[in-house]
Amino acid sequence: MTASIYAIVNQKGGTAKTTTTENLGIGLAREGKKVLLVDTDPQASLTISLGFPRPDDIEPALPDLMRMAMDEELIPKGTGVIHHDEGIDLIPSNIALAGTEVSLVTAMNRERIMKQLLGDMKKDYDFILLDCMPSLGMLTVNALAAADNVLIPVQANYLSAKGLEQLLSTVSKVKRQINSKLRIEGILLTMVDGRTNYAKEISNLIRDTYGSHIKVFSTEIPRSVRAAEISAEGRSIFLHDPKGKVAQAYQILTKEVIDNAEKRRKHQLEQLR
Ligand code: ADP
Ligand code: MG
Repeated sequence: MTASIYAIVNQKGGTAKTTTTENLGIGLAREGKKVLLVDTDPQASLTISLGFPRPDDIEPALPDLMRMAMDEELIPKGTGVIHHDEGIDLIPSNIALAGTEVSLVTAMNRERIMKQLLGDMKKDYDFILLDCMPSLGMLTVNALAAADNVLIPVQANYLSAKGLEQLLSTVSKVKRQINSKLRIEGILLTMVDGRTNYAKEISNLIRDTYGSHIKVFSTEIPRSVRAAEISAEGRSIFLHDPKGKVAQAYQILTKEVIDNAEKRRKHQLEQLR
């Protein structure tokens, strides 16, 4: 087994990166996959959302592991990994990660520290999802350098659609300079208010503008207060509102992600023959 790594990225805040990481991750575990989620945001929203309300008290967490990787220390298996009831593992974050981002700037091999850290863990998982912070700084570049795939949640409004250009150009730059195998898995429309014409217009705008060269998932995540509630619950939408439309949408997304990964794996195997 060697994990496919996905960076869940958008430099805009509030596009449902964290919500998508949590529910796609748990969705994958519900399909029998071994899943590791990595909280790469100093704000630790993913860690908190998964039911660890005081991330600053957790040690070791991602900043400690990043420091060990920078110092080329041996990291014993399982260090800094905590298990969540719903069948996933998590590397939590906390505010110290903001300091890590600063120290990365002068570190040797600074773009590849996260890749180095995840290298040893790849064989223990089918999927590793990296929840990124709302910026295109060193931590996000590290996530893009470590990833095989980029998944871009976009809130269905006009300004979000506009902000995509800068993100796509950063992804291309990382691909050219640091990680040639990086590919875009797709754009995921989130918080879609299905009843309005405006949401349909934005959805069409994004599909028309990018659809010819980037996959835009046909599954859209509907807006629902039930989804907003889970961050205080420590559990996924699949437990919080199992029959709701958001759970259903994340389940379809999960299957689509698994399907794509299996197709790629088959294709790679055929090329090796
Ligand atoms: P990001 O990680 O991109 O900043 P979050 O996942 O934290 O975004 O989501 C931003 C806010 O929107 C949070 O308060 C979250 O609970 C809420 N939210 C996420 N998805 C939905 C949804 N489908 N419907 C309604 N609210 C949502
Ligand atoms: Mg977030």
